[in-house]
Amino acid sequence: TTVAVLRETALKEKRVALVPEIVKKLKGRGAVIVLQHGAGEPALIPDSAYADVEIVADAKSALARADVLLKVAPPSLDEIAGLREGSVVIGYMQPHLAPERIAALRDRKITAFALELLPRTTRAQAMDVLSSQAAVAGYKAVLIAALESGKFFPMLTTAAGTIRPSRVLVIGAGVAGLQAIATARRLGAIVEGFDVRPETKEQIESLGAKFLDLGVSAAGTGGYARELTPEEREKQQRALAEHLKIVDIIISTASVPGRKAPRIISTAMVDGMKSGAVIVDIAAESGGNCELTEAGKTILHNGVSIVGPENLPAMAAVHASEMYSRNLYNFLELSLKDGVLNLDWNDELIAKTCITHAGEIKHEPTKLLVE
Ligand code: NAD
Repeated sequence: TTVAVLRETALKEKRVALVPEIVKKLKGRGAVIVLQHGAGEPALIPDSAYADVEIVADAKSALARADVLLKVAPPSLDEIAGLREGSVVIGYMQPHLAPERIAALRDRKITAFALELLPRTTRAQAMDVLSSQAAVAGYKAVLIAALESGKFFPMLTTAAGTIRPSRVLVIGAGVAGLQAIATARRLGAIVEGFDVRPETKEQIESLGAKFLDLGVSAAGTGGYARELTPEEREKQQRALAEHLKIVDIIISTASVPGRKAPRIISTAMVDGMKSGAVIVDIAAESGGNCELTEAGKTILHNGVSIVGPENLPAMAAVHASEMYSRNLYNFLELSLKDGVLNLDWNDELIAKTCITHAGEIKHEPTKLLVE
């Protein structure tokens, strides 16, 4: 089995799907590895760091050789056109962003696995790219907020007087939110968090932050939140608006699978905030938790900065790639042995992540979207 890796071409993408540490492991499973020249460069990994791989000059040559293509961003139409029929591609597929790519994968009879569809089970944890990359995003978002803010995070006692610590509020305490809480705490801020899943109270408190109880509980299925009813939303917003008046920094991470990000911070709520406050909206790319958020931009509204970062994990490309590459390997390990790829369709991790196979769309919601 030949495993190919490309230099990612998506805008702002700096991650690479394979790091040198994982080459050895793939070799141990009998794979041959073909790497496009410069694939690791954006993540600061030179070709020379990859021992035991075959380096080819361009994407076309790598694609033509691939039995399995490892990707970060969903494959582009050009990449799909360069793959051989019957080959396998693994990475994010994000069907809602570009249904035409899924149609192309189907038509080229490519077997595509979308790792964002992995069930959140204990067995899947080691392959869970959503978790590993969300942790990077939560960490980086706090650093962006600290940089954007005109205030210190920690309390300082100096000859020039005492500086009060910043008050940070983290909205949504999933993987990204909990990492944001931990990071803001390490910087010395006073941190609060809330979520609609009741089990997050204990998780937030275990990180030394305070749970902000807004009186709304909306656990959904599979460990995720469900969408709030209009009444619940109204209640959450009323309680929150009052609280936002004293907050210096907001890191918002709330998301509901398969939907636009919930709107939690209205313009009126921002109007009530202190001048100099900063909002970093991790949900920017899926519509934003704040009404004023614009993806890829920083907006200044009445003295409040609203940052809508794009591709946060790529901003820490070295460690994000390392974790992503391990996730990919752990997924591939299910099927790759002695150089032979054998897909076990009875394994739910294989069946549930498969989006196209043998000329068909295998994932029902995607099928509705595309056909
Ligand atoms: P996510 O990215 O889908 O959402 C982020 C957070 O936003 C969630 O905690 C969600 O409850 C919250 N949220 C949604 N609507 C909200 C609202 N209106 N107000 C406030 N908060 C709102 O979630 P995620 O980080 O991918 O993970 C969610 C859960 O899945 C976590 O409990 C996590 O521990 C669990 N998980 C389990 C595994 C596993 O066992 N393999 C892996 C990853 C995550």
